[in-house]
Amino acid sequence: MAPAQKNVDADVCDTDLPSQIKMRLIAIDNKSQNREHCDNNNSVDNISEKVNVDTGFDLEKYESMEFKSKFRWPDLTVQVLLHLVSIYGLYLIVTFKVKFLTTIFAFLTIYTSGFGITAGVHRLWSHRAYQARTPLRVLLALLFTITGQRDIYTWALDHRVHHKYTETAADPHDIRRGFWFAHVGWLVLTPHPAVEDRRAAFRLTSRDLDSDPVVAWQKKYFIPLFALLNVILPVWIPWYCWDELLVNSFVVSFVTRFTITLNIAFCVNSFAHLWGNKPYDRFIKSTENVMVSLAALGEGWHNYHHVFPWDYRTSELGRINISTGFIDAFAKIGWAYNLKTATNAMIISRAKRSGDGTLGDKEEPDPTLKNEGIE
Ligand SMILES: [Zn+2]
Ligand SMILES: [Zn+2]
Repeated sequence: MAPAQKNVDADVCDTDLPSQIKMRLIAIDNKSQNREHCDNNNSVDNISEKVNVDTGFDLEKYESMEFKSKFRWPDLTVQVLLHLVSIYGLYLIVTFKVKFLTTIFAFLTIYTSGFGITAGVHRLWSHRAYQARTPLRVLLALLFTITGQRDIYTWALDHRVHHKYTETAADPHDIRRGFWFAHVGWLVLTPHPAVEDRRAAFRLTSRDLDSDPVVAWQKKYFIPLFALLNVILPVWIPWYCWDELLVNSFVVSFVTRFTITLNIAFCVNSFAHLWGNKPYDRFIKSTENVMVSLAALGEGWHNYHHVFPWDYRTSELGRINISTGFIDAFAKIGWAYNLKTATNAMIISRAKRSGDGTLGDKEEPDPTLKNEGIE
């Protein structure tokens, strides 16, 4: 366990303690099936939970209303252009019509900037799964901006809404509307009124984001930062440093890299909500998806993540999770601290209660479990 790491016992309903079992379990009749899950499934962070964002929100009304999305043509055009040019970029890469260094540079940029999403806007800013000192927050903000995926505030807000209202009309990328909607459709279609309602509500309650100067700075200067970090520098470096053709650098190091990064993030919303096992909660759609985890620096252990969203590891120890190693490294020098984790007892108890039975085959027996009263 990293020195700054701590197990979270309070506010959690995943232990066998009677008082915690008494915590409210919600049973939602979700069309064809009854599903039961713990309140904690939807806890995003302790700060937002202090404010009841549900006051006056009638989800049933939104679920039953007639709604048909319309295309947002500018966004659709951008996505179509990005993907068409990226096909040409992939052609340049596989036929070696672009310098090998440019290809290496593009993929290195994808995987270094990816920590801005995983360790940054996701685990730090959306979930407050750990805390970070200013130099690390600045580094993560810059890495995240390289990925070009909107500003921290907007991303984190949407992600909080996703966790709070997963698989409902208020989920921005509700997987019930199908693979393509969850993958990219939600970005090119008008949002459901329930999503707009919840975005407005969360804007009022996500005060931790309002009060973080790094978030405010990145939001304020997003357009020039996007232009510099996502377009100008990635295109300029291959052209200036190893004489890549400017047009090839633009196609591979900006458009193709940007589009691949987008699709890796999209896969968490689509693949990891559809295909894989559910060791912790079989009543939700999110899954453990190894391929997504490999591509997305550890973000594909999504059944675990939806059950314990405040755990900075987003998976159990032993799973491939490079972003957890990234945070652990910064914890060692004190830039990351208060790392929150679920205890093994919580995890196993929860798996026994609601998992699909796939946890355990490869698990090492934990010597501490006897003391914690778990057999
Ligand atoms: Zn999800
Ligand atoms: Zn999350």
